[in-house]
Amino acid sequence: AVHAETHGFQTEVKQLLQLMIHSLYSNKEIFLRELVSNAADAADKLRFKALENNALYEDDGELRVRVSFDQDAKTITLSDNGIGMTRDEVIEHLGTIAKSGTKEFFGQLSGDSAKDSQLIGQFGVGFYSAFIVADKVTVETRAAGVEAEQGVRWESAGEGDYTVADITKQTRGTDITLHLREDEHEFLDSWKVRSIITKYSDHISIPVQMWKDERPESEGPDGEKIAAVPGEWESINKATALWTRGKNEISKEEYNEFYKHISHDFADPLTWAHNKVEGKQDYTSLLYIPSKAPFDLWNRERQHGLKLYVQRVFIMDDADEFMPGYLRFVKGVLDSNDLPLNVSREILQDTKTTANLRSACTKRVLTMLERMAKNDAEKYQTFWAEFGQVLKEGPAEDFANKEQIAKLLRFASTHNDNAEQNVSFADYVERMKEGQDKIYYVTADSYAAAANSPHLEIFKRKGIEVLLMHDRVDEWLISHLPEAEGKSLVSITKGDLDLGDLDDEETKKQKEQDETEYASFVSRVKETLGDKVKDVRLTYRLTDTPSCIVVDEHDMSTQMQKLMKAVGQ
Ligand code: ADP
Ligand code: MG
Repeated sequence: AVHAETHGFQTEVKQLLQLMIHSLYSNKEIFLRELVSNAADAADKLRFKALENNALYEDDGELRVRVSFDQDAKTITLSDNGIGMTRDEVIEHLGTIAKSGTKEFFGQLSGDSAKDSQLIGQFGVGFYSAFIVADKVTVETRAAGVEAEQGVRWESAGEGDYTVADITKQTRGTDITLHLREDEHEFLDSWKVRSIITKYSDHISIPVQMWKDERPESEGPDGEKIAAVPGEWESINKATALWTRGKNEISKEEYNEFYKHISHDFADPLTWAHNKVEGKQDYTSLLYIPSKAPFDLWNRERQHGLKLYVQRVFIMDDADEFMPGYLRFVKGVLDSNDLPLNVSREILQDTKTTANLRSACTKRVLTMLERMAKNDAEKYQTFWAEFGQVLKEGPAEDFANKEQIAKLLRFASTHNDNAEQNVSFADYVERMKEGQDKIYYVTADSYAAAANSPHLEIFKRKGIEVLLMHDRVDEWLISHLPEAEGKSLVSITKGDLDLGDLDDEETKKQKEQDETEYASFVSRVKETLGDKVKDVRLTYRLTDTPSCIVVDEHDMSTQMQKLMKAVGQ
């Protein structure tokens, strides 16, 4: 080997390695899933590059990954003929973490290994998981399209540093050899490895192969000769892209594992929708709702979107053109037969097909959520707790689906007397008082502030339910949602609250009397306060508090004013 160098790992890699070995030990077999998953990604990337340059296949177009053992050396090797890596790529990908969200990830680690392993799972364990079972890992790789002499060997014990050296490697692709730790020799058992791969990687779209020994010539019961069968590489998975298979041929476990492969998530998804569409549009979508919000959901630079395939060929990760921002938590695959194979981000951004696919995928997700809300309210509450705040951005962003989104919204309410957001507009409307034709709400900084608002007094007295909104995004949501379920939404802090139809005849008469009786008092208060207020009115909203401040119906609410101040307006 020439040009051998020793490099130190980026600090974050060292930290991640430490953490991973300790907190993922009970799940150690996942290293196989991660390495097989990388081999499949490498095959996808090669196919994509070969669209423009078929020579990259070098007469070896049957992409696969092979798993083999060396019982004496105590090693297991995964060998793929995918895209491979150049020296620079090796240093970049196997020495640093370049992912967006890395800073948040490290910022959120708590030292509690159960919590941290959850977080690591979400962050994506990837290649480094090899060190859970290996005390030395050797990677030999050669990129597609370069000379055999431009191969690279990377080696590390997973501590502070790694070495890289130039080597000659005839075959394209990447061989990863794990030198198993003393107590991990169980991974030399081919039967065990086979069952793990079947469990985790059956859906992988390239063949995962293991060597099947030859069967020597033998004799049958009547002395007849049974011919020898030569040894061969045998595929141990189905090796067809999961989404191309029929729904009823795919088990729940396979859907779950496929989700983990594409999302780099560790936990099972909450639910999914798998649809094949033919006709005017021709595409397959497989869309998942994760069970936990990613730790960097609120990071604007965070990558999101679907994995895009065109006619089964991988085109790009994180194609965010197909999912609106308020559904940015959705993971999945979109395989289109209408887009050209040479589609780029630029082309994507202005073709009609993209717009159609985006609206179709959006509908799918909304329908999937609607169904979950209807069939499994408990599950829907889990979803809402994780992603409700994101979904509340919907009505502002997606005018066309406003009504459908509104049906998915959940709020805290005076009906419940607790902070849990589980009341829909439909629930509210069903409980409306006779004569009530509006949906009343209050917004505040916190649940406690909303629940103790003095404006609620009259509503409590009259037994009218009020939605208690206390998420930061609520004010924004409401400003884009003037009505729901055919009823207008009215803030109980705004303007002249007319509970008119809800008053009985006697109250109405009483009110008229009061107006005359207190007229001079009101004008005196108005004079005293002068410019400080726009108007002074008698109110029936309060029972225990003598007075309160309200804003005019068409003015910004006090909550919105605070929000604007906070962002420097
Ligand atoms: P991720 O797969 O989430 O990107 P990994 O830690 O699994 O993260 O892998 C890091 C990177 O190393 C990959 O993105 C890829 O660029 C490179 N890599 C890993 N394994 C292979 C492989 N078998 N062939 C080519 N590149 C690979
Ligand atoms: Mg990976």
